[in-house]
Amino acid sequence: MINSTDLSEIEKRHVWHPFTQMRDWESSDPLFIVGGKGVKLTDIDGNEYWDANSSLWVNIHGHCRSEIDDAVKRQLASIEHSTMLGLTHPSAAILAEKLVAVAPRGLNKVFYSDSGSTAVEISLKMAYQYQCLTGHPERSRFIALEDSYHGDTIGAVSVGGIGLFHGIFRRLLFPVDFLPCPARAKDADEAAANLKTLLDQRAGEVAAVILEPLIQAAGGMLLSPPGFLAKVRKICDQYGILLIVDEVATGFGRTGRMFACEHEGVSPDLMCVAKGITGGYLPLAATLATDTIYQAFLGEYSELKTFFHGHSYTGNPLACAAAIASLDIFEKDAVISGLTAKIAFVEDCLKSIAQLKHVGNIRQIGLMVGIDLIENSGVEYPFELAMGGRVCRRARDLSLITRPLGNVIIFLPPLVSTNDELGEMLRIIQIAIEQVTAEHEN
Ligand code: PLP
Repeated sequence: MINSTDLSEIEKRHVWHPFTQMRDWESSDPLFIVGGKGVKLTDIDGNEYWDANSSLWVNIHGHCRSEIDDAVKRQLASIEHSTMLGLTHPSAAILAEKLVAVAPRGLNKVFYSDSGSTAVEISLKMAYQYQCLTGHPERSRFIALEDSYHGDTIGAVSVGGIGLFHGIFRRLLFPVDFLPCPARAKDADEAAANLKTLLDQRAGEVAAVILEPLIQAAGGMLLSPPGFLAKVRKICDQYGILLIVDEVATGFGRTGRMFACEHEGVSPDLMCVAKGITGGYLPLAATLATDTIYQAFLGEYSELKTFFHGHSYTGNPLACAAAIASLDIFEKDAVISGLTAKIAFVEDCLKSIAQLKHVGNIRQIGLMVGIDLIENSGVEYPFELAMGGRVCRRARDLSLITRPLGNVIIFLPPLVSTNDELGEMLRIIQIAIEQVTAEHEN
């Protein structure tokens, strides 16, 4: 058995990590996670940690959940993978039916892929091809929101509005019209007016609007004003433009409903889901489309209406089996109705964190929380101090894992967490904030 010191050396010699300054990583002590149970992770030395960001916003029902373990094992006993190009498999069909049953009304078709980014790429390409197929090839532009995040592939980055992540790639991207971040608008009317103004100028060139519903998660858990999503839906209909809703972060219960769209009774034309779809087990994503969009792609092969897009692992059977088991748990354990009390409990716990001298605004929807760290009232900590990173590092020393977004501390626990567990996680986050901000002051 290889010892952990040798393992660290091997890993640092060869592994390049996402969203990580590797010079810092090389001088750090890598944390090897080797186990997980419920809402806890275990490292190679046997230490336990709270998984307070659901392993990057994916875990729903806890780690090593027996129902999902068993479903994956059952699938493994029959076949691990076969292609969806020209073939299919039972789990893909069953999952599609289940997804359609829980999705907003009208989304009857499921196109599988394997990450949030690919689900978004697919939605953009489908929207544009739909416009072409219905006689509008000139409708090639997309409208997105400032501070939005839709993934890291080039199409997803094109519609992404976070300068820190996306700025350097600007020359590689297709042109997109960005609306001011709705979270900074006075209300939904003001935010929606920006869309109307833009469409008055160039509706004829636009294929679709893409947005994260209710909350721009990676932008720093920025809440859109209530009613904005419903207004966007209405405006898109008025101008004959498609609405793509990216539920990659918000889907599968995170906001307190199965999908965030439900809060405002909105059915998009295309919806992207990933992350929580498998309960956090395996990479899987889906782009859901309406019958109207799907029908436009039907024709003779020679008409070239086919959607020429697919990935090697599209609709992987193991991942589909995990997703079916996850949706079954939602039903069996009445997960969504159980969230109301947990959400209220978290809101209550956050009151004490809100009192801290170096905490500014706190934003919460469902079990998605962003806590702003501030130097003084109205004054942010300088970026280079990496206060968010320091607080999260201290939280790790106190047995809790989460990742910041700049100076925003993210709390996004698995939905299965009990009130006791949620309370303990927030207590540790509070201590980490208190300690690190006090040390900085001294
Ligand atoms: N869309 C949203 C709203 C996201 O939050 C993310 C990831 O955080 C993505 C897309 C990209 O998903 P993935 O990392 O699976 O490619």
